[in-house]
Amino acid sequence: MSATNLNADKHAAASAAPARPLPPRRPAAELQALVEAGSAELAAAAAATGREATAAEVVAWVARNFSAGSVAVACSMADAVLPEIVSQQLPGVDVLFLDTGYHFAETYETRDAVASALPVTVVDVLPLSTVPEQDALHGTELFARDPNSCCAMRKVEPLQRSLGGYELWFTGVRRDEAPTRADTPLVTWDERNGLVKVNPVAAWSYDELMQYAIDHHVPVNVLLNQGYPSIGCAPCTQPVAAGADPRSGRWATLEKTECGLHL
Ligand code: SF4
Repeated sequence: MSATNLNADKHAAASAAPARPLPPRRPAAELQALVEAGSAELAAAAAATGREATAAEVVAWVARNFSAGSVAVACSMADAVLPEIVSQQLPGVDVLFLDTGYHFAETYETRDAVASALPVTVVDVLPLSTVPEQDALHGTELFARDPNSCCAMRKVEPLQRSLGGYELWFTGVRRDEAPTRADTPLVTWDERNGLVKVNPVAAWSYDELMQYAIDHHVPVNVLLNQGYPSIGCAPCTQPVAAGADPRSGRWATLEKTECGLHL
């Protein structure tokens, strides 16, 4: 549908505003009650059918209880499967892209393809500082010396700021990505960010994700087929050998395994 960067010329200002004014946000207690009711509803359906709810069924629950204008989809632009699934039932939904300033050119190309191909509004979520400004404040290549601080400034803070007006966000977190993600629920309350968090493809494998992209002609980052099964910022992402842990190319020389968005 479109891509929006409301602050391209004012990067240092608060820069992660949503693409349009958001509808009034319901109180946290009301949203938490919805999480409990939704979790119970999906669990009851699972008990009746003998299988966990599908991604489409999870999104259908969201569509029954939330407006498209009150929810957002987080997307790293490795693939657009989640925006595609969500926009089928919530057309016009905002897709938040954390533009750290360190992405591969192919990732920006994927962002532009998503904005053109899907009925979504891509929102570039910017850090408070440009890369040169961060270099001036903290020295060059902070990602190599203190990646946790770099991620905190370029990913975690911008996401928290951008989620402020929404009632719910979708993520593409999958249980098979890492031991830290093995217990990912379909629907939960995100205490840190103060809104509902929904993970429709939590139960999917990487192969299922890629097959869905092929079957539904969903834009994917070309780097996925060039040895990068998990794609983050260019300085912190290396290609991995076939069959290796897909996330082993992220911060490959460091102990770090998570950027902090989903802890
Ligand atoms: S992934 Fe690397 S470059 Fe990107 S924000 Fe984190 S430390 Fe910085």
